Formats: sequence, C-alpha cells, structure tokens
Amino acid sequence: MVEEESAISLNFSILQDFFDCAYRFKLSMFYGFVQPIAAAMGYGNAVHNIVRNIHKKYLDGESLTSEEVQSIVEETFFLPYANSKMEQNMLASAKKSVDSYFQKNKEDFKNIEMAEADIELDMGDGIKVNGRIDLVKRREISGEEKITIVDFKTADRDVTECLEAEQLRIYALGYQELTGKSADYLEILNLDNAESDRVRVTEGLTETIAQDIRNAAKNIRANKLDKKCSKEKCSTCYLNYLCLSKEEKKTYVE
Ligand code: SF4
Repeated sequence: MVEEESAISLNFSILQDFFDCAYRFKLSMFYGFVQPIAAAMGYGNAVHNIVRNIHKKYLDGESLTSEEVQSIVEETFFLPYANSKMEQNMLASAKKSVDSYFQKNKEDFKNIEMAEADIELDMGDGIKVNGRIDLVKRREISGEEKITIVDFKTADRDVTECLEAEQLRIYALGYQELTGKSADYLEILNLDNAESDRVRVTEGLTETIAQDIRNAAKNIRANKLDKKCSKEKCSTCYLNYLCLSKEEKKTYVE
C-alpha cells in the first residue's frame, strides 16, 4: 500500500523564509518566534495597498490626477503600531514615494495586465502554494511585446539582491499556471528610491523552482530544517541570540 503524504499549504513568503534559512523558518513557524513588532511595521503593506488601489483604477478604465492620487494615499495609509508623530512622518514619505512612482509610470499604466493577482499552485503530492503577484505589465522591447512581472519593495532593500530571491521566480511559475503563458522578465521596483532592476526569465527556470518547492515541502515534512549560517544572514537575523552557539556568534555576528 502506498502511504499518502500529509497535505501541506505554503505561501510565497513562507517559502522565501525557508529558502533564506530553514532553521529560522522552523523557529518561527513551528515554535512561534516571530519577528518582534516595530513601530514602523506595516509601512511596506500600506504603500503596497496604495499602489494597488491606483493600479485598480487604471485596470477599471479610469485615470487619475496627482491630487486624486494624494487622496488615495491619505485614505489608504494606516500604520497600526506607530505613534501619531511617526505616522505623520511616514505618511509624508509615502506621499513623496507614491507621487514619484505615479509621475514616472502613469503613461505606462495602460499596459497593466494584472494587479494584485491571487495565485494558487497545486504542485501535486498534497503540496499547495498560494500568494499574490503585485503587478504584471506588457512592455514593448525591440518591437516585440514582452510580459514583465513586477514586485514592489520599500525601505532600504537592495533591488539587485531581491532579484536573486526565489520568491520572484515563484511568481514566474504562478503566472504560467494562471495564464498558460510564460513571463519574459522579472522586475524589482523599490518604491522608496525608484530604483529598479530586472532579469530575463530563462528557459527551465519555472521547472527549477517547481523542483525547489517540492524539495522544500519534502524537507519540511521530514523536519529537516538545518541552519544556513553566513555572516550576511546571521548578523542581521532577529533570532541569532537564540539560535547560535558562542562559537557561531564569534564567526557570524561579532
Ligand atoms: S542566526 Fe543564522 S542560522 Fe540562525 S536562524 Fe538566523 S539566519 Fe538561520
């Protein structure tokens, strides 16, 4: 008799946590050591919600003036953990970032194919993955129409570093599952500093990420969640005080 595997439901950010460091994934998902709440928490989400509301208007065939965009920022912006002074400062940053994004991209909004698209992937063997793609747009490159999946970041995230993240590749797989078409480019756009970078979707990329997801599910089921130590990851990890031995702290943090 073939024993059935237990169902496992993952999402894009859970998987990114797993790929970053499987042991951190274990400490947060299995034992509840989640990231401590910071006053500025929610800023990224708030700005994402604002640009989503702008994109949706264009998808519905409407267009917006700069003043209407500023009203959307004011109506949508919400920071649950900040005091009012901090909230006002961050609202001012959000207004500036969104205005600069709007001015730079408004002519291109007619080319939006999807905004905040929900994806559910059935990977077989009881593995489901869900998540949301920020934006998909058509773009003419060298006379040909190309599909670009855009992921928004905020704050001091390095766009080139984010391009390396598996999460972005999962989007390519998600888009393919949803539409039956292949995306051509994956792009990261930092809304706070307007920096962006993109990579081409290479042949075999979606098959590779599908295999990575299956391997991740296999390791999670088997509780094979090992530390992935490196100076870069551990020195900024909010769980390094709990996770690392004295020797490891000397090597990766001090
Ligand atoms: S300190 Fe390093 S090894 Fe430990 S959970 Fe964090 S990233 Fe992983």
